[in-house]
Amino acid sequence: MSQINPFEIVRRQVDKCSRILKLDQDVTDVLKSPMRELHLSLPVHMDNGKVKVFQAYRVQYNDAKGPTKGGIRFHPDETIDTVRALAAWMTWKCSLMDLPLGGGKGGVICNPKEMSEGELERLSRSYARAVYQFIGPERDVPAPDVYTTPQIMAWIMDEYSAMAGKSQFGVITGKPLALGGSKGRGDATAKGGMYCIREAAKLLKIDLSKATIAVQGYGNAGYYAAKLAKEMFGSKIIAVCDSQGGCYCKTGIDAEEAQKIKTKTTSVCNMKTGDKISSEEILELDVDILIPSAMENVITEKNAANIKAKIVAELANGPCTPEADDILYKKGIHVIPDFLCNAGGVTVSYFEMVQNFNMYYWTEKEVYERLDAKMTTAYHDVYNTHKDYKINMRQAAYVRAVERVVEAMKLRGWV
Ligand code: GLU
Repeated sequence: MSQINPFEIVRRQVDKCSRILKLDQDVTDVLKSPMRELHLSLPVHMDNGKVKVFQAYRVQYNDAKGPTKGGIRFHPDETIDTVRALAAWMTWKCSLMDLPLGGGKGGVICNPKEMSEGELERLSRSYARAVYQFIGPERDVPAPDVYTTPQIMAWIMDEYSAMAGKSQFGVITGKPLALGGSKGRGDATAKGGMYCIREAAKLLKIDLSKATIAVQGYGNAGYYAAKLAKEMFGSKIIAVCDSQGGCYCKTGIDAEEAQKIKTKTTSVCNMKTGDKISSEEILELDVDILIPSAMENVITEKNAANIKAKIVAELANGPCTPEADDILYKKGIHVIPDFLCNAGGVTVSYFEMVQNFNMYYWTEKEVYERLDAKMTTAYHDVYNTHKDYKINMRQAAYVRAVERVVEAMKLRGWV
């Protein structure tokens, strides 16, 4: 992960938004402060017979609008400030999508690629026990994020339910379908991003059936983005990469093929088609749409001037620094900001919560229709705000999201 502190970026973004909205200093101070943080040490029995202690966090950033919501990351470079930033972005994301939820995030410092299935299960259950008192369907509802899976959600739900003495499906989302998961949750992040891209392309008069796309990052979001862009619009994916590198092929890359190679060899860079490309080079390709789908701070003041895409659709959280935002805005590049573009995941998570509460499950068609309606409304809301205020798309998203959080805080008497 980068040297730039993501939580410092959040605080600068909030300051900027507060100036636009002319918020009082005390209101701004609350918006810049995480409400509650858990710092945990989790002892886990490893396969070699030794006990290893893992550092972990859960940050509940702001619950003015409802129970906090947000994923858990398992990543070797996790820090408390990354988790704080991601928890803040979840707060704005849920608010922007008009969900009755606040924002939170969890993180465990570990490298799941080097852990056995049994070790991962024991770590997940240990995390569930440590956060038991602080999470719950009406308190704080975790979900998947980088390197966490539906199976990990199932273990956490099971451990929590065992402690509660009853099945508590609603404690976590992104669960497998057999355990109260929602149809459409698997590809929801990418699907939501596609709905935004569709709306942006209409406004910018880009013909998506002829568009070229580069996807940086090939986890859940990146893989589905590549697959759906082709399926939904007939666009051509000309480059994909992951943390080990990537591949560039003018005539087009097959998303399924790339996924197969990644599963088999751990990286899409082992594909036989096209030329090798680094995860930095991919950002600067001459494409219509660039989809950063991995980690924070990949577009900075160092490379922003070299970006050639017409649309940057941020499926990752925090891929652009504020300096990069200014440069891209001046260049006239249309950025669909992270907490709008990738909000499909949490939106279907919210649908999953609703289904769990009601014990009644929707069809895939119902999920996608409702997701499309939510994403389309939010996209145009942000776009119109960006035009009305003459501010960039990220600031516009901040304005709409923060306005609602502040209204809730005022009505609750916090400020
Ligand atoms: N981890 C996803 C995000 O960053 C999904 C969160 C959720 O479903 O609660 O938005």
